[in-house]
Amino acid sequence: EEGPIEFRQLAKNINEMNKQLEESFSQIKRSEASRRELVANISHDLRTPLASIQSFVEALQDGIVDDPKTYDRYLETIKLESNRISYLINDLFQLSELDSGQENFEPDAYHLDSLIVETLQHLAIQLEEKQIDVEVLMSDHLPAVSVMPEKMKRVFVNILENAIRFSDKNSKIVIQTSRENDTFLKVNISDQGQGISDENQKHVFERFYRVEKSRNPSHGGAGLGLSIAKTIVERHGGEIGIESRLNEGSTFWITLPIYRNDEG
Ligand code: ADP
Repeated sequence: EEGPIEFRQLAKNINEMNKQLEESFSQIKRSEASRRELVANISHDLRTPLASIQSFVEALQDGIVDDPKTYDRYLETIKLESNRISYLINDLFQLSELDSGQENFEPDAYHLDSLIVETLQHLAIQLEEKQIDVEVLMSDHLPAVSVMPEKMKRVFVNILENAIRFSDKNSKIVIQTSRENDTFLKVNISDQGQGISDENQKHVFERFYRVEKSRNPSHGGAGLGLSIAKTIVERHGGEIGIESRLNEGSTFWITLPIYRNDEG
């Protein structure tokens, strides 16, 4: 009697193993496909500005540009395009560092208000250019959060640069901090910009995802900013999300762990 039961168990186990194998195969296929897509995206994003640099340099070398204004405009374009390349490389470098998980993850106690103030100082010129007013609403007596300050400032910069970029002149950005629960604080960053449709909201945290409208050469982003922000926030044990309405504005929120004295 035991025989058939053991046999049935064995068959069940093999069946189970088969399923797991299939699952991991399809996982490998998926990650292989996304790796290919990643490489294709990177090549495209490098090739476009490089081609443009090449053609402008050639035009200058040919000596066909005799008008000094045009000459300056060509040089300016070359500078802009090389900046795009260097931003892209910088973003890719950050992502690969985060992916490898090799950087020392050593968070420490920081107060959100000082992180936010430092981030805003960094963005002063962009804010000034678009005459954007930033209102910071701090909840009183919030405890410190446990973060790596440079990484966390990168998160705020990435979210705020988008908020500035996708807002009209003279609009307003509101940053609000609050206590989410016993273990997390929450930061809301709201803009009155062009907003993101429900469909696009599902994808904005994916690598290289840009909403179609923003896929134009004057907009330098490679679609990596929010995926970098998400990776960093999750590395800290927090979450990131979005609420938005097309043509009304967007709110990005993040949760960050409260610093505990017994840590480290
Ligand atoms: P990018 O480098 O293109 O800004 P991100 O990952 O930072 O890439 O953002 C992805 C896309 O999400 C952007 O291209 C833009 O279309 C959209 N997006 C991000 N933030 C906002 C915002 N505050 N308002 C409107 N659209 C936004």
